[in-house]
Amino acid sequence: MKKVLLIALTAGFVGCGAQKNVENANPMEYANTITPDELKDHLYIFASDDFEGKDTGEPGQKKAAEYLRKEFKNLGLTSPEGVANYYQEIPSEFFDGKFKDTENVVAFIEGGEKAEEILVITSHYDHVGIDNEGNIYNGADDGGSGPVAILEMAEAFAEAKKDGYTPKRSILFIELTGEEKGLLGSKYYTENPIFPLENTVANLNMDMIGRIDEKHTGNDNYVYLIGSDRLSTDLHEVSEQVNNEFMNMDLDYTYNDENDPNRFYYRSDHYNFAKNNIPVIFYFNGVHKDYHQPTDTAEKIEYEALAKRAKLVFLTAWEIANRDERLVVDKAE
Ligand SMILES: [Zn+2]
Repeated sequence: MKKVLLIALTAGFVGCGAQKNVENANPMEYANTITPDELKDHLYIFASDDFEGKDTGEPGQKKAAEYLRKEFKNLGLTSPEGVANYYQEIPSEFFDGKFKDTENVVAFIEGGEKAEEILVITSHYDHVGIDNEGNIYNGADDGGSGPVAILEMAEAFAEAKKDGYTPKRSILFIELTGEEKGLLGSKYYTENPIFPLENTVANLNMDMIGRIDEKHTGNDNYVYLIGSDRLSTDLHEVSEQVNNEFMNMDLDYTYNDENDPNRFYYRSDHYNFAKNNIPVIFYFNGVHKDYHQPTDTAEKIEYEALAKRAKLVFLTAWEIANRDERLVVDKAE
């Protein structure tokens, strides 16, 4: 009896992978699995003509969604409970019929200690489709760089988990639809959350993180951060500390200025989370001449810059998911 029990226990242990204390892990080891080459491989497919500009609800976007779902599956991430096969379906009625049925693509890593607390990592994967003259808007930077960065970050967390380092908090990756139509995928999510918003500790959102703007010509070591100090002093400090410890990038807060006329804080999906008092950081490379043009293509992406930014977001996510205390919300929106 004793012997059988021992075998059963051993078998179970091997099956789950030996759990280790995540505090002993070196997050940089996993960040380094995020490489320019892998990002490039993904993006040359994801921003190819085959995906027809990824217009919300259209066949090209369905192909893009399928690509993301397949990758999440291959990485061993799960579809969160209550969501069938990685798709949070959004019916056409939600758009008053203006767009066809579409889907947020979601993947989940359950936390090992504080599973009910959720870190949400987002980027939109839709873009604006094909114009009347047949030009395909591939959306490599806008609607491409963020989604493939999420795949690489998901891989990094999956590798850590395989080594026994399950994050303390849960992580939900959402590849959002409908952003170009007015932040509609994130609107749907925050109105129909998979996990309670009050348990959502932060949202890290990436939108356009693969290019270098004019101001930073020749510098692939910068990123604009927007929103980090608006709701939570903790979040801003964690973000700064992680950068100082691991990446040493130039964090440019120009567009975080509340009087900035571009009002970028209100213009991507994180805003729907911020509206619900969830601390957010928006990662952004700034604008460039290919913004919302058919010339926003995969060969123009700066893959070293993209990899650095994805690593920074991964390392920040790691810290938020694994620190002892939940981020405190000490400011009002
Ligand atoms: Zn756009």
